[in-house]
Amino acid sequence: MRDDYGLNIWANGDFVIEKGKICLNTPSKPALQDMVEKIREDGIRGPILLRFPHLIAKQISELYTNFKAAMSEFDYGGNFCAVYPLKVNQYPGFVGNLVEIGKKYGYGLEAGSKAELLLAMAYNELGSPITVNGFKDKELINLGFIAAEMGHNITITIEGLGELETIIETAKNRFKPKPNIGLRIRLHSGGSGIWAKSGGINSKFGLTSTELIEAVKLLSKNGLIEHFNMIHFHIGSQIKEIGPLKKALQEAGNIYAELRKMGAKNLSAINLGGGLAIEYSQFKHKETKNYTLKEYANDVVFLLQNIAAQKNEPVPDIFVESGRFIAASHAVLTAPVLELFSQEYSEKKLQLKKKNPPLISELHDLYTNINKSNAIEYLHDATSHLDSVLTLFDLGYVDLEDRSNAEILVHLIVRKTISILNDKDDYADLRRIQNEIQERYLVNFSIFQSMPDFWGLKQHFPIAPLKHLDERPTLSASIWDITCDSDGEIGFDSKDNPLFLHDIDISKEPYFLGFFLVGAYQEVLGMSHNLFTHPTEAIIVPTENGYEIKELIEAQSIMDILYDLDYDIDAIRSELNRRIESSNSVSEKAKKQILGELYLFLNANGYLRTVQ
Ligand SMILES: *Cc1c(COP(=O)(O)O)cnc(C)c1O
Repeated sequence: MRDDYGLNIWANGDFVIEKGKICLNTPSKPALQDMVEKIREDGIRGPILLRFPHLIAKQISELYTNFKAAMSEFDYGGNFCAVYPLKVNQYPGFVGNLVEIGKKYGYGLEAGSKAELLLAMAYNELGSPITVNGFKDKELINLGFIAAEMGHNITITIEGLGELETIIETAKNRFKPKPNIGLRIRLHSGGSGIWAKSGGINSKFGLTSTELIEAVKLLSKNGLIEHFNMIHFHIGSQIKEIGPLKKALQEAGNIYAELRKMGAKNLSAINLGGGLAIEYSQFKHKETKNYTLKEYANDVVFLLQNIAAQKNEPVPDIFVESGRFIAASHAVLTAPVLELFSQEYSEKKLQLKKKNPPLISELHDLYTNINKSNAIEYLHDATSHLDSVLTLFDLGYVDLEDRSNAEILVHLIVRKTISILNDKDDYADLRRIQNEIQERYLVNFSIFQSMPDFWGLKQHFPIAPLKHLDERPTLSASIWDITCDSDGEIGFDSKDNPLFLHDIDISKEPYFLGFFLVGAYQEVLGMSHNLFTHPTEAIIVPTENGYEIKELIEAQSIMDILYDLDYDIDAIRSELNRRIESSNSVSEKAKKQILGELYLFLNANGYLRTVQ
């Protein structure tokens, strides 16, 4: 049986398997494996992040299409607007493409800090909305006013009354076009998902009903009520069920109508924040979200229309700030497997003696005589023999050579068992052994840098080899990254996320793994643990006949990362040079060579550069 790695569950039609390779689902179906090999022809090594702008375009289009369809189905009088929250991925290779693609929709940007707001002011298409959330000081608010003065359509969302007072003060001193003002509401209905702290009565953000009343009074008193146009909430990221969102909307819709009745005559929009989920699961039984985008859009539009009708108010414009949904699918991390740990145990390495301890002879017999009918039994005998040999070794009764022979034989028996059962169709037995015995795949990447949410939250990301998908994978795999941290491991999880990979001789052919849906949050949350940097990235555009590598941005060099840590890199370089030049241990000729080598090391990235 082949394994499609759950592609039909998580890939959303973005990827297909053709001739055993994972390919873009575009007319020419280029294979990811071929892209990686092409990029590596120029000497690039280590992990490579593939960025696909056409998948950003697809997500933006789906968002607008579904909301527009819902609005026309229900004859909704308001507009649909969307902004991209920069915190989800601020890398220029992503943001540049996103802004370009978003132009025709009037797609805007959301900022949560001064740096993000400055980015938005520079990149956002004039006229497309900018929203500003998060805690603000006087400077940030001032920056919001400058954006409005530049001609940006900006809404500053107030998180607390203190911020409102600063806005009122600032407004007195600034020029004419003023930013719009939004109020973040604190809902009594709770948040959802592992990122739920953004909603609910104990939420970190938002104004209580008492504060809302006060805010409207303050705005009126200071002549700013006409700028108050939006209420905002955000119940958390990766919302798994639609229920909590509907409750929040019900509440927000009523607050909207009440505030209008209190005199907020220009209040015309409800901003639902983000939270639209994507499917990360590779298994049906683990599917994580219970709604589609179509259902989400229909529910939102229908609910808001109902409330507006009930309260006899015009329907609000609908703003969303979906980030994960837009960004996750566009990036795939590809990384070469460097080693399968048990491959060291080959028949060649057996050093059987003329006279071996009885247990070793028995292991050898098991290995020679194993067949389909006795495989499971022999395997269990073998593992128990190995336990005994190890005990005997600890007690001093067998030597290191015997121990090595036993370890090799047991690994050979495991492999033979798997291949015997794999040829036949005893799948259940095979899976049983695979659950007991795992292969460790050492992969040239850092989990801390490239999948921090796995490290921090045990968030699962789909994993699949880029080729051999037309062959049954036989080894239950755990994945080890190249950091020297024991957390740098994705263990084999027989219950929730079993991963099976192929038994490949890495010295004969490269074997790459793809880690999918890593485009949201992972890049900028990534940590430089062990000083491994953001990987080399390639921006890839599918063409009629294949694909084009539009841009290649190499991973930071070792010098760059030391510079980021505020080291004086010139001082490091000259100190290394001085120490080599003044050393007495090697000849002048050798010194010259060493200096050259060091120069290359410092200017290359820190990932492993073996043949793979
Ligand atoms: C983080 C955040 C978002 C984005 O959430 P996603 O789950 O990525 O869609 C949107 N709005 C606000 C206010 C946020 O804090």
